[in-house]
Amino acid sequence: MSRRDWLIVGAGFTGAVLAERIATQLDQSVLVIDRRGHIAGNAYDYPENGLLVHRYGPHIFHTNSERVWRYLSGFTEWRPYFHKVLGMVDGRLVPVPFNIDSILALFPPRMADRLCDTLIQRFGFGQKVPILKLRTEADPDLRFLADYVYEKVFEGYTLKQWGMRPEDLSASVTARVPVFVSRDDRYFQDRYQAMPRAGYTALFERLLDHPRIRVELNAEYRDVASSVPHDRTVFTGPIDEFFDYTHGALPYRSLRFERRVEKPPCGLPVGTVNYPNEFDFTRITDQRHLGGAPDVDPLLITEYPESYSVGVNEPYYPIPSTATTPLLERYLASADSLDGRVFFAGRLGDYAYYNMDQACARALALFEKRIAPLVTGQAPSGRIAVSA
Ligand code: FAD
Ligand code: UDP
Repeated sequence: MSRRDWLIVGAGFTGAVLAERIATQLDQSVLVIDRRGHIAGNAYDYPENGLLVHRYGPHIFHTNSERVWRYLSGFTEWRPYFHKVLGMVDGRLVPVPFNIDSILALFPPRMADRLCDTLIQRFGFGQKVPILKLRTEADPDLRFLADYVYEKVFEGYTLKQWGMRPEDLSASVTARVPVFVSRDDRYFQDRYQAMPRAGYTALFERLLDHPRIRVELNAEYRDVASSVPHDRTVFTGPIDEFFDYTHGALPYRSLRFERRVEKPPCGLPVGTVNYPNEFDFTRITDQRHLGGAPDVDPLLITEYPESYSVGVNEPYYPIPSTATTPLLERYLASADSLDGRVFFAGRLGDYAYYNMDQACARALALFEKRIAPLVTGQAPSGRIAVSA
């Protein structure tokens, strides 16, 4: 293959957005490779039974970033979708994030009223309170509620999902799903919430559809790097893998997905049901809701968390905790030493628990602040923060 200006490793959000920017804005040639047999990374979807199935678990697009929303809107039309989640708590299905309606469903009326009043007086209606913060409250009613929610919603789920207790992870992990002093039962409150109308894979096909972009699938970085001449690299795979684990292996968490088609009435009442306390799996998603197709047969995806082993399963989640910070810093320093030749980005390249919009924002920022100035001869230095 002829020389390429850029080799981009990974055809997920990070790699595809960067390829699009480099090709269209800088007119440079890009080879995008992925070791998987498809584009779109973990957002990959494919048609089955009248639905688009998310192969790597439910992917719901949500963002407060107008910039990301506008950028992606250039490559897809959207179908509005508000994701809802119920959690099985004490044998009842109640809203998650845990909110005022969850309290009203689980406690006797007078007690529920008192708990809601106390919560509203302390934090204000409409506020979000991370569970680890709620547990530091002195008021006996709030302490009771905090312990109840911690035990019934967070403890078991987190132990299954991460093999760790909530307090041993970065507080930002459980803060993603705070106690919500509200009756808004949507999982997200972002300004923009929607699904790509023709699916994620179609969105990626459009991102990558450019004469300066070539895509090779089932292609491993090590093989391509030595056989295809290229000037610069963007690596969106695991940062520790790139450096042959020289500083030691960073921890990741994996999942096993079980997919099955059911007949009504076996479907779920909402997009996802969480099982914090029962079973070995964490949640089941009914793709009918995500696909906006309530009349087709329920298509259920169950997520079983697993420990991660290199070459055996996928590193779906970096594990955010203070325990991993020193090791990550060593890899980030190694990455800095390659500055200008190899760029690292993405959920695995940055080792950061990004949502899709954050991966997209990170790619756009990397392009604007580092890659474009480098190519046009005005390169600044320093790491770049994500701002989705
Ligand atoms: P990825 O999509 O992981 O892409 C990286 C690609 O690099 C992969 O395709 C991989 O095969 C390839 N690669 C790695 N190493 C190599 C190598 N050596 N050679 C060749 N190719 C390589 N986000 C949301 O916003 N909403 C959601 O609802 C949501 N749900 C999620 C549910 C699950 C179960 C998971 C795991 C994630 C979810 N996410 C969600 C997060 C979302 O998947 C990520 O934000 C996004 O995929 C990150 O894109 P990326 O390009 O950084 O990484
Ligand atoms: N979480 C929980 N119980 C729930 C939902 C979430 O304990 O019912 C915690 C758990 O630690 C989980 C984290 O909050 O990993 C983030 O949840 P989210 O739904 O954002 O996870 P993701 O969709 O990224 O897997």
